[in-house]
Order: sequence, then C-alpha cells, then structure tokens
Amino acid sequence: MLKMTDDFMRMALRELEQASYSHEQWAERLYGTLICRAVPDEADLRSDAHRLCAFGHWYYQTGSVALGSHPGFREIGMEHERMHQCATKLLKASRSGVAVAPADYQRFVAALKDMNLEIATVREDLRKALFNLDPLTGAPSRAGMLSALREQQKLIRRGGVCSVAMLDLDHFKTINDEYGHMLGDKVLIGVARCVMEHLRPCDQFYRYGGEEFLICLPDTDVAAGRDLLSRVIEEVTALPFEVECKQAFHISASVGVADLDQKQPVERSIDRADKALYMAKAQGRNRVITWDGSMG
Ligand code: GH3
Ligand code: MG
Ligand code: MG
Repeated sequence: MLKMTDDFMRMALRELEQASYSHEQWAERLYGTLICRAVPDEADLRSDAHRLCAFGHWYYQTGSVALGSHPGFREIGMEHERMHQCATKLLKASRSGVAVAPADYQRFVAALKDMNLEIATVREDLRKALFNLDPLTGAPSRAGMLSALREQQKLIRRGGVCSVAMLDLDHFKTINDEYGHMLGDKVLIGVARCVMEHLRPCDQFYRYGGEEFLICLPDTDVAAGRDLLSRVIEEVTALPFEVECKQAFHISASVGVADLDQKQPVERSIDRADKALYMAKAQGRNRVITWDGSMG
C-alpha cells in the first residue's frame, strides 16, 4: 500500500503526468531530427543525455521527493536511461550520414515502450490509491480493505502473526450535537491524521464507516497490538480541538483488538475485534481491549 497523503499523491500524479508529457515532446523532436536529418541536439548525444532532457531534470532533481517511495520510481529511471542510450546511437548514426540500422531502431522503440509502460503502471497505481481514499479524512476507504486483509492472511499462513483492530470515537454524537457537524468533520480529519502519523509504515489504516476505523498490524500479536494502540489513543486524547469562544475540547477513543485468524474468513477476525471494542465501551471507554473466547 502506498504511504502517502492524498494531497501528496495528487501532487505526485500531476508531476508524473507533466514529466511524461515533456517526454512525449522530446520523442517527437527526436523523430523530427531523424526523419529530416536535422542536426541533433548536442545534449542528446552525451552519455548523460538522460539527465539533461526535461524528464531527466524532473526525475533527478525533484521526482524522488514526490515519488521516491514508490517501488516503480527506480524502474522508470532505469528504462529512461536505457531508452536514451538507444536514442543516442540512432542520432550518432544519423549525424554521420549513416542509415540507422533497423535492429537499433527496434531496440529504441522497445525501450521507449518499456519506459512508457513503467510510467503508466505507476500512474495507474496512484490513481487507484486516490480513488480508494475516503474523501473526508484522506484515509483509505473500505474498498480495498478485505482483499488487503486476505493478502495479510496469506502471509501469516507461511508463519507469523497479525492483529486487526477496530477503533471507535467515544461519544462522538455529542460532539456533533454540541458543536455542529462541521466541527465533527474536523475532529474526524484530525483523529485520522493523528492515528496515521503514529502507526508504523507497515500498518494499514481504513475508515471503516462513520467514526470507526479499522487497523491492521502485521507481525504484531494482540498483546503488542494493545500496547501500540494504547499509545496511539493517548495521542488522540491529547489532541486539542479549538472552538470559537469556548475552551478547547478533547476526544477519546476505544479499541478492540483480535488476532487475524489464519483459518477463518477475515470477516470473523473483524467481528472479534468488534466484540472486543464493545467490551471496551462497556468497561468505560478510552481503552484498548483484546478479544478472548469468552466474548463469543
Ligand atoms: P460511543 O461512545 O458509544 O461510540 O458513542 P457515539 O456517540 O460515538 O456513537 P454513535 O454510534 O451513537 O454515534 C456516532 C455518530 O457519528 C453518529 C453520526 O452522526 C456521526 N457521524 C458518522 N459519520 C460522520 C461524519 O462523516 N461526520 C460527522 N460530523 N459525523 C458523523
Ligand atoms: Mg462512537
Ligand atoms: Mg460507532
């Protein structure tokens, strides 16, 4: 799963699209140079041509800020460099008045296609991730949740543990009633950000619905999950929410944690986390409770 905020993802997508457009323009100029037997641009003949074109400028100067964490970013760079090496060969042949060898042209076309394919894959990945984000909080929505949990289940079948947790805000309805729905929305956004900031990069976080969130903690048993989430809800409780002409208020959250059972459907584990959450509410809220067999 991509670990980027929705704003950051939008920026990355925009930058990649612009860079890709500038690359198409570069390719058009290259065809023009070859067909019209024009004098090639000196930069395109150099061994570091891939760093000198507009796409290369973006890739090597700012691209890694937006996309460096994406696994496809490195592949794009490699394909881009290979494509430029092929292009340089064509331009050098053309400059010295020699006909371009069909095999060299084929290699260039294949390299260009591979590069465009890598770009399209990353772009698609970003679009899909953006589409699956909850528009209010920016947290991933439930859309891809079950399949991601089933993937985790496959991993633990080969050995390992994983926990799932349900987090629900306490007395959230009274926030809406007392301060209005708009402020309620702000609280949801603030809490989601806070939880995302305090989870580990490997953890998964989803807006399950309303003021409920589902958390998946890979390589974490329920005891470690309880400790981790206790720290997270302490951070949530410490968040101050400002209200005009009134004192800032705080909100608490309750959490239920269960093992991701490797033999049962993932829905069963979610249900167990939900039962533990119910206990957390019954025991006074603002706490993390782990599921045990007595809860049904
Ligand atoms: P408990 O401690 O038992 O969980 O009490 P609660 O008040 O948090 O629970 P309840 O389920 O009664 O209320 C949840 C409220 O969350 C009701 C609903 O109006 C509100 N809610 C759900 N989605 C949103 C949203 O997107 N924005 C806002 N502002 N409120 C929402
Ligand atoms: Mg609630
Ligand atoms: Mg609820």
